[in-house]
Amino acid sequence: MSAVTVDPWSDTEGSRRTRELFTRAFDQQPQGVWAAPGRVNVIGEHVDYNAGLCLPTALPHRTFAAVRPRTDGQVRLVSAHLPEEPWTGTVADLAPGRVEGWAAYSGGPAWVLADEGVEVGGFDAAIDSCVPFGAGLSSSAAIEGAVAVALAELAGLELDDALRARLARLCVRAENEVAHAPTGGLDQAASLRSRAGHGLLIDFVDEQVRHVPLDLPAHGLELLVIDTRAPHTLNDGQYAARRADCDRAAALLGVPTLREVDDLDGALAQLTDPVLVARVRHVVSEIERVRQVVALLAAGEVAAIGPVLDASHTSLRDDYEVTCPELDVTVEAARAAGALGARMTGGGFGGSAIALVPAEAVGTVTDAVRDAFDAHGWGAPAFLRAPAAAGAERVA
Ligand code: ADP
Ligand code: MG
Repeated sequence: MSAVTVDPWSDTEGSRRTRELFTRAFDQQPQGVWAAPGRVNVIGEHVDYNAGLCLPTALPHRTFAAVRPRTDGQVRLVSAHLPEEPWTGTVADLAPGRVEGWAAYSGGPAWVLADEGVEVGGFDAAIDSCVPFGAGLSSSAAIEGAVAVALAELAGLELDDALRARLARLCVRAENEVAHAPTGGLDQAASLRSRAGHGLLIDFVDEQVRHVPLDLPAHGLELLVIDTRAPHTLNDGQYAARRADCDRAAALLGVPTLREVDDLDGALAQLTDPVLVARVRHVVSEIERVRQVVALLAAGEVAAIGPVLDASHTSLRDDYEVTCPELDVTVEAARAAGALGARMTGGGFGGSAIALVPAEAVGTVTDAVRDAFDAHGWGAPAFLRAPAAAGAERVA
């Protein structure tokens, strides 16, 4: 069995694919092509909805959207991943409750932009992507972000830091209100606000971000993403249940959010439900691990973040109970083959893991994880090499 590595597309490749699709579907040329990346969270899991801290990076893997504005209010959307006819309707048809499925993700940002007073006179868009779907790498934020930056720039807005922050919030609205998917805002911020060579430290108290240098290659290291391809469903109630646990614990502790817990031992002593004790221990210790990683990176002690990643996985497995056998096997096999640290990333229950790997050990780690999956009789995982990439932008 050979390992599947998912390579990112260049600007040229993504533009060529979406331009061809656009011309085939709509019989004319797009005005431009925009791209927005998937993301991977380095540390800070299940803390965004607790007003916590997290440190994602943008993937080099992106969703591309070739777009042409219209003036008649009509919208046509086509994706290379869906063989069916283009979705057609109006901007008003993209309102909450009037659209579902992939058109809600790709078209939702148009309705929210219009709702927030930006002129959207209709558009045609052709979309293609090398971001794996439903792998915890946020193909949803990537498709929202690609369309959102396209429409914002076509409306004459300047893609500066302020607009990126605004579009990130707007895409969260689209995902929550139009696609009816719960999302805490990490994905959209990472896709729209990241900078190449940096992690994006997000503080969910006020959504302020800081760009933290994360040049792993300079330290002989790589971030390897392993897409377990195990079924991953965040909408099956588990995500909502974890959020509810956190809200209940915060209410019992008399704090607005678990971010406000300063004295972990004191807080745990106040709780009698062992499930809530474990949930709070994860959230509070995970926020502390984000601070540790940021401090280690600032000190140039990059390899030392490995054990912190390991501790995050253990906490997510034992206290937060959001891993699954595929994720646990992945991190164990990666560590045994030379990874300096490994953890599940994203919502959990499937999806992807990350491993911090010395560059020369990437092949060994890849083989070891693949062999472990084979031994369990599971389908082959996919591997993505993930140098910290740039946020959404126009590419053609
Ligand atoms: P992920 O972890 O990849 O974000 P989600 O379930 O949040 O998984 O979002 C995946 C959904 O986003 C898909 O089911 C589809 O509706 C939409 N989507 C993402 N990328 C594309 C694309 N390139 N073409 C069509 N739909 C897409
Ligand atoms: Mg998503």
